[in-house]
Amino acid sequence: MLGGHSSHPADRALLSQPPKAGLSCKMVLQAVGKVLRKSKAKPNGKKPASEEKKAYLDPELAKSRITDCEFKELVALPREIDLNEWLASNTTTFFHHVNLQYSTVSEFCTAEACQTMAVCNTQYYWYDERGKKVKCTAPQYVDFVMSSVQKLVTDEDVFPTKYGREFPSSFESLVKRICRHLFHVLAHIYSSHFKETLALELHGHLNTLYVHFILFAREFNLLDPKETAVMDDLTEVLCSGAGRGGGGGDGAGGGGPGAQNHVKER
Ligand SMILES: [Zn+2]
Repeated sequence: MLGGHSSHPADRALLSQPPKAGLSCKMVLQAVGKVLRKSKAKPNGKKPASEEKKAYLDPELAKSRITDCEFKELVALPREIDLNEWLASNTTTFFHHVNLQYSTVSEFCTAEACQTMAVCNTQYYWYDERGKKVKCTAPQYVDFVMSSVQKLVTDEDVFPTKYGREFPSSFESLVKRICRHLFHVLAHIYSSHFKETLALELHGHLNTLYVHFILFAREFNLLDPKETAVMDDLTEVLCSGAGRGGGGGDGAGGGGPGAQNHVKER
């Protein structure tokens, strides 16, 4: 299991495939970063993605997956498993995978490049624990998301792991809140950092994670359709025809994010 939410190089290393390929993911990132920085003509006041062509809708790129497994079967509640356990397990896993995916582009998601938490033409604000609206940059917003989710999934009162401990009555609404925030991060990666993700050849990972996450959220009504409308065009391209990878796939196999991270001690 991954600890913390920082964009630690170790997190990045986990995403590099294969891990023993000589070049570390960090080295690749640095090289790509140099190329991308050179190509950026106007570093200041740049409005990422929203005004650019949505490369992530390109049919060829949208086909890319790291597995061709049937996500609809993968997300369904298995018999004999408690619903809350299933939600907890998957939510925790999605948190780690979204965190990991974001960490691969976090060095490009700076206060200068992403002055607001924007997704296409929508802008998000963080609300602190007192409900006060906080204006923040995208990296700050993501940090708020990851810190708050990390706090929740490691809180024994909210995500109990000890035998005999019950889930709180607010559990479902907390899971919905986590999913909403994780969706914002995924959507931001697509809308503002798809170019970098593509340069790193991690778009297959991103597509796979997105499809798995969206189908899971759909299965348990965890995301408000109004919330996800901002990415409806992508969702349509990636998720129509259910989970089976749109016929593409990079042939790497290995399955999507599992649900093994939240196991009760018996
Ligand atoms: Zn960003």
